[in-house]
Amino acid sequence: MRVFNFNPGPAMLPTEVMEQAQHEFSDYHKTGCGIMEHSHRGAEFTEVIETAEKNIRELMNIGDEYAVLFIQGGASLQFAMIPMNLHVPGTSMEYADTGAWSAAAIKEAKFIGDVKVVCSSKDTKYNKIPDIRHWKLDAKASYLHITSNNTIFGTQYHSFPDSKVPLIADMSSDFMSRVVDVDQFSLIYAGAQKNIGPSGVAVVIIKKELVKRTPANLPTMLKYGTYIDSNSLYNTPPTFGIYMIRLVTDWMKKKGGLAAIETINDAKSEALYETIEEGEFYSNPVEPASRSKMNVVFRLPSEALEEKFVKEAKAKGLIGLKGHRSVGGIRASIYNAMPLEGVEKLIDFMNAFEKANS
Ligand SMILES: *Cc1c(COP(=O)(O)O)cnc(C)c1O
Repeated sequence: MRVFNFNPGPAMLPTEVMEQAQHEFSDYHKTGCGIMEHSHRGAEFTEVIETAEKNIRELMNIGDEYAVLFIQGGASLQFAMIPMNLHVPGTSMEYADTGAWSAAAIKEAKFIGDVKVVCSSKDTKYNKIPDIRHWKLDAKASYLHITSNNTIFGTQYHSFPDSKVPLIADMSSDFMSRVVDVDQFSLIYAGAQKNIGPSGVAVVIIKKELVKRTPANLPTMLKYGTYIDSNSLYNTPPTFGIYMIRLVTDWMKKKGGLAAIETINDAKSEALYETIEEGEFYSNPVEPASRSKMNVVFRLPSEALEEKFVKEAKAKGLIGLKGHRSVGGIRASIYNAMPLEGVEKLIDFMNAFEKANS
């Protein structure tokens, strides 16, 4: 039996997709072997990777001036590849510090050059996205980097800075969960394992002209140009992960695309926040204007009750609700694959738990 899985990542995938992958696992389209046993240069996988890219382009309305790449190493390798490829000598790289993942990106950029942190919500325990109007921006910076959704702290940008320099976003935990205007960005990246597939592959959407900046002496596998020139097939790519992205993006198209998915995500998060706000039992540390529609964090009156909550929820088939080890509390990650029904079951459980324990 499938449970409702609130894990932050790797996370729940659509049940229909899991079943389709199972169905064709050892015999893909009557070829007598599974897709991960096929050559990455054969006809079967060529169709898979081309369709995965086409689906992402269609769903996000991505223009030809952008490349869509599949790269191993997760979002964390992008923390390093971005400054390695896009730092302009003599300028600083700008970063908004809105949580642990922003801080991890900043750490890597500092190995490469001068970093300027344009805003930070660290002093208030990362409970908000700092007001964009007050950021200190430099029109000569190499780029401006933001983290569109802060997985651990439950915050999310609901509008993006109007940047004069190339805007770069780590969208790992809200990628393809809502309609975004890709043209606002020069580079978008996301580890697949939150919204669109398994771990082992990251999607990078990059304005092709940016690679002019890449230093010639950068090793081949670290250059964006290598992936652009080879359609992400310079070496053996993570074929199974790309295949899963293809299936998940097929599923997203069937659901009606990003606008339809966003409507469901809005309904899910609104219902959950309403339940948290209703009484005194549950509380949310995040400023209302910055609340995430993907990772809903909340507290109970005591840590002992939080522990009990997680345990009893699990017994009811609601798993993965424990907050990140660095912050504690409860976190419900409700990515695209989580149906409204799962959130409704969680809300029923929350109401019953409150009644029994307050
Ligand atoms: C999970 C996550 C990462 C790290 O992703 P990896 O693929 O494990 O490197 C980076 N940024 C954000 C916002 C995340 O949620």
